[in-house]
This record gives sequence, structure tokens and C-alpha cells, in this order.
Amino acid sequence: MSDLPNCPACASEFTYDDGLQFVCPECGHEWSKSGEEETESASSGIRDANGNPLVDGDTVTVIKDLKVKGSSLVVKVGTRVKNIRLVSGDHDIDCKIDGIGPMKLKSMFVKKA
Ligand SMILES: [Zn+2]
Repeated sequence: MSDLPNCPACASEFTYDDGLQFVCPECGHEWSKSGEEETESASSGIRDANGNPLVDGDTVTVIKDLKVKGSSLVVKVGTRVKNIRLVSGDHDIDCKIDGIGPMKLKSMFVKKA
């Protein structure tokens, strides 16, 4: 009974086995038992340029010169960015870069260090 997976949509533990599929009573999500469906687990789904999932606190490396909006500063290729924080939006990484300060990056322009 206890080996039912949590709901992939809302992570509820109260899923039940409907015979052919799993059903979540909390959000109404239904999914097949095949296991084919990709489980996003608790990750944000934000991935780096190589497709590796990123999490809060990761260190990443910038793979492209990035102009800092509203200034003449440039974040150079190879810059290491520590302790990133994932946010939602067009720029999905919030971070602080040495010598530049707080800024936002796009996950497509970094790779996990
Ligand atoms: Zn649910």
C-alpha cells in the first residue's frame, strides 16, 4: 500500500491506485502506471546548457560573454558563479557575481561546474 508514488503534479502522498492508473485526490491529476512518464521529482525543471538539472546552491560556469543590463560590465566566459538561486521567469537564475554584484542569468548560458 505504501509504495504508491507521490503525485507528480502536486507531490501529494494521498495518491491511490485506480486499477489502470494512479489518481491524486488532491489535485485530480491522473497518470499511467507504465512508468514511461518522466518523473520531475521535486526539481524545478531548470536545466543548464548541457541539459543537467540545476538546483539552488549550485555552482555554475558562464559559457558565453554576457552583458550586464544597464552597465558596461560583461560577465566573461568561464566566470564561476557560486550559490545560485533558481527563480521563475525569463532569466531563471538569481545570483551574485564577484566584481559585478547581484544579477540574473539565463540557465541556457551556464553549465554546472
Ligand atoms: Zn496531485
